[in-house]
Amino acid sequence: MSSVMSVTGPLAKDELGLTLPHEHLFVDLRCYCPVEPRDENQRNNYRQPVTLQNRSKVVNQPWEYRDNPFLDDLESSLNEVLAFKTLGGTTIADLSCSLAMGRDPQKLRLVAERTGVNIIMSSGRYTLPSLTETERNLSEAFIEARILDEFYNGVDGGIYPGILKAGFVGETDKEPEIRTLRAVGRAQAKIGCALAVHPHIWQPDSHRILDILEDVGCDLRRVILCHQDFLGLQTAYLDSLCKRGVYIEFDTFGSGWINDRMWQLTDEQKIGFLKQQVDLGNQEQLLISGDMCLKLMLKKWGGVGYVNIPKFVIPAMKAAGFSSEVIHLITVENPARVFCH
Ligand SMILES: [Zn+2]
Repeated sequence: MSSVMSVTGPLAKDELGLTLPHEHLFVDLRCYCPVEPRDENQRNNYRQPVTLQNRSKVVNQPWEYRDNPFLDDLESSLNEVLAFKTLGGTTIADLSCSLAMGRDPQKLRLVAERTGVNIIMSSGRYTLPSLTETERNLSEAFIEARILDEFYNGVDGGIYPGILKAGFVGETDKEPEIRTLRAVGRAQAKIGCALAVHPHIWQPDSHRILDILEDVGCDLRRVILCHQDFLGLQTAYLDSLCKRGVYIEFDTFGSGWINDRMWQLTDEQKIGFLKQQVDLGNQEQLLISGDMCLKLMLKKWGGVGYVNIPKFVIPAMKAAGFSSEVIHLITVENPARVFCH
């Protein structure tokens, strides 16, 4: 029977239940912060921890406060995950795929053990800005071997990943990211698990990514294209991706209030994008999640947290005319089908 590995052992397909396929319990995205400003006032902001008091300022400059794109607080994670559980949530995939991205296998296992919520860890290589000089120069074979070693032998004393992740922005100096894609695609062909790809979020050029993956034998029916919210208006383009067998993920639900180009779409707009894809018959290839990666997004710092999907999005989908069957497909069956192999 097909299953997926979680940080506390394998899960059968019917054990996944309500799943958030793209979140971060622990993450480090400080590679996207600007360099420390010279101006003293700006520098003070840059170094300030995020609090409920400075929240209204951080909302307008999410990357200018270096503490914001960094989650390492176990207490906050436990509370967040428990809140998700009380609303019927059962599984969360943590897509922080490497040490450089702030992945913390020990803490992930602690959260799973203490809350009883299934946590699926990822393995792979993230976008170019997150890579050190040494990391950028690694060969395709080395990256693939490292990933396979994590899947076969575990990390941090026997904690196993269950999903692959690759970052491909593909704008500048593409070579290291092409190596990532090819290595991760090859690993997918051997392991058979799901592969989540972070593409360039504004450019409708993921067919290029799929060509590279196909070329190394990757099974496109296991591929999840993340962050498709940003291209949600390009209905025909998203449909053309679905025609190749991949899953498209609208994973920034709950962040429309952040004053930054990245997060300006509302949940209602994203529900509209989903509806268009359902009308085109792509309901079996849709996924939704919240991609919680900033302190601002979490309850402790005034955000909505991991409960957003069960608490607000699912009721809003019902109000928008989605049937219970389609909601169940998108939030339960689709993640279980793509994750379990
Ligand atoms: Zn993410």
